[in-house]
Amino acid sequence: MSLSMVEEHIVKVRAEVEAACQRVGRSADEVCLLAVSKMQSAEAVREAARAKQRAFGENYLQEALAKQRALQDLDLEWHFIGAIQSNKTRALAEHFAWIHTLDRLKIAQRLSAQRPAKLPPLQVLLQVNISNEASKAGVAIDAVAELATQVAALPRLCLRGLMCIPIATPNQTAQHQAFAKLRCLLHDLHALGLNQPLDTLSMGMSADLEAAIAEGSTLVRIGTAIFGARAPKLAH
Ligand SMILES: *Cc1c(COP(=O)(O)O)cnc(C)c1O
Repeated sequence: MSLSMVEEHIVKVRAEVEAACQRVGRSADEVCLLAVSKMQSAEAVREAARAKQRAFGENYLQEALAKQRALQDLDLEWHFIGAIQSNKTRALAEHFAWIHTLDRLKIAQRLSAQRPAKLPPLQVLLQVNISNEASKAGVAIDAVAELATQVAALPRLCLRGLMCIPIATPNQTAQHQAFAKLRCLLHDLHALGLNQPLDTLSMGMSADLEAAIAEGSTLVRIGTAIFGARAPKLAH
C-alpha cells in the first residue's frame, strides 16, 4: 500500500521525536505529537488521520469549525493554539478539547462558564511570554503563579500545564534556556497545591523540537513538516 505525502511526513516526524527522546533517555510515549493543521484542507487532515494521527491544532476559529464539520465521522481531538478574542470564547468552549493560549483571567472565566455541561472540563494551558517580548501574547513569568491559582479555582477548566513560543533562534543554548525556564515554572506550580494535573509542557516546533524534548516537552506542535507550506494568510 502506498502512503500519501502527509502520511509519510507523519512517519518521519514521529521518528524524529523518537530519536530526540532516545538521545536524552526519555520514552517517546511521553511526548504527544500535535499536528498543526491551520490553513490546511480537511482532506489533508483526513490523510493524517489515516496515519493514526488524532490530535490537531488550529489557530482560526471559523476555519477550524468548518474543518470539524467536514470531519465529523472521525474521532479527532481538537486543540486551539491561536489568539483568543473574548467574543469567541463560547464557540471555543463548545468545540475544542484543549486550549493552549490562555493568558487572561477574564477569558478563563468565560471559558469555564460557557463549557457545556455534557462535555468534560476544558483542558487548558497557560501561554507564558517566556522570552519577555513586548509584542508577544502570553502571561508574564512573574504573573504565572497568580493566574494558575485563579484558573485552578474555575470549575469547568482543568489546568494541564504551560505552553510557550520562544523567540526564534538557531542558537541551541538559547533554545534550551527558554524551555528549561518553562519546565521550572511548571515545577514551581506543583508546590502551590492547586489539585490540578499540571502534567503538560506544550513546547517545541519543527526548528527547536530537539531542545524542547531534551528539556521535558510533553507535547510538540508541528505544522509545516507534516502538511507542507501554508498558503499565505490573507484576512481572518
Ligand atoms: C503555526 C503554529 C505552529 C506550527 O508551526 P510550523 O512552522 O508550521 O511547524 C506551532 N505552534 C503554534 C502556536 C502555531 O501557531
